Amino acid sequence: MARLDLSNIRHIYGPPGEGEPQYALRHVNQAFEHGGAYALLGPSGCGKTTLLNIISGLVHPSEGRVRIDGVDVTDKPTEKRNIAQVFQFPVIYDTMTVRENLEFPLRNRGVAAAQIKRRVDEVIEMIGLGALARRRARGLSADEKQKVSLGRGLVREDVSAILFDEPLTVIDPEVKWTLRTQLRELQRRSGMTMIYVTHDQTEALTFASGVVVMHEGQVLQVGSPKDLFEKPAHTFVGYFIGSPGMNVLPTKVDGAALRIGEYFAPLTSEPRLRGNPKLELGIRPEFVRLAAEGIPATIERIEDIGRHRIVRTRMLGHSVTALLQEHEPIPADPHLYFEPEGVHLYADSWRVELSGKPAP
Ligand code: ATP
Repeated sequence: MARLDLSNIRHIYGPPGEGEPQYALRHVNQAFEHGGAYALLGPSGCGKTTLLNIISGLVHPSEGRVRIDGVDVTDKPTEKRNIAQVFQFPVIYDTMTVRENLEFPLRNRGVAAAQIKRRVDEVIEMIGLGALARRRARGLSADEKQKVSLGRGLVREDVSAILFDEPLTVIDPEVKWTLRTQLRELQRRSGMTMIYVTHDQTEALTFASGVVVMHEGQVLQVGSPKDLFEKPAHTFVGYFIGSPGMNVLPTKVDGAALRIGEYFAPLTSEPRLRGNPKLELGIRPEFVRLAAEGIPATIERIEDIGRHRIVRTRMLGHSVTALLQEHEPIPADPHLYFEPEGVHLYADSWRVELSGKPAP
């Protein structure tokens, strides 16, 4: 178990080219607390793997420092960091049996035979490899091999942290769910610091208590699934988390309300703004109601998803999505009403915190 600190991390691959530098990581300051379950979540190319590899030591950052329990390890190689990493594709020895593959990292460190047996039995049981324990790895299917690889990452009890880079991609969807739940359970029981990279929000939200949302080489927000849903710090987080994502519309501030065309959406208090930022209103589809009064809209499409209906509308030239409960009626002449507690203001894409008290 350990606390990991990344300070002022920037990274560029290869030699500096002409023009603007292409940062894989632009500026990352991030702490991973002792015993936390984290997910690095973001679209392909946002820098998740780079960040993970900087923690494990596979990549040396162009700038910034990495600390484990306060000790600077930036210049230390992977094997001196005491970190286990599980990759997207299996890393195992084909000629060994499943059991031998799991024993290997422990034997290598001179762990006593009885302890190896106990721990390997435990891991075999946890990932459901019992029936395959004596089989050579060569003949296994892709998802069986990945389970072995996962087991190799989990088998050491002395590691500071375990890093997972999309470890369940090649695994069958049903088995995936079970394995993720087991990983989470193991994390709770062992109190190990775990960081799990994924671009799948369901995977991130079900695994982690701290979700780190990344975009274009930056961390935009770190929070619980609830924080990310209720208070997206950046318009991208609102759009990326949630299904469907948050609606984002251009707006103007008018006292303690936001103006959209000639219509108003009330805020809980008057915002304080500096300069002349680009202003946007963000509202999740869950907080958009279809009413007889409000802002006139036309319905473009209705998608029935069981308990809810996703209603795609057009309002003053903008697309706005509403999420309706099964029983909620759709008026013949629909207008949109934004529930005030769901209305957020964004200045240059960042959320403006309102005091919550009514404006004086
Ligand atoms: P994915 O989910 O697709 O793995 P990611 O979020 O993990 O993406 P990274 O793999 O960290 O993102 O990549 C971040 C940026 O760095 C991308 O623009 C990528 O093209 C670039 N990049 C990654 N590895 C290298 C490399 N070895 N050489 C040059 N550029 C690289």
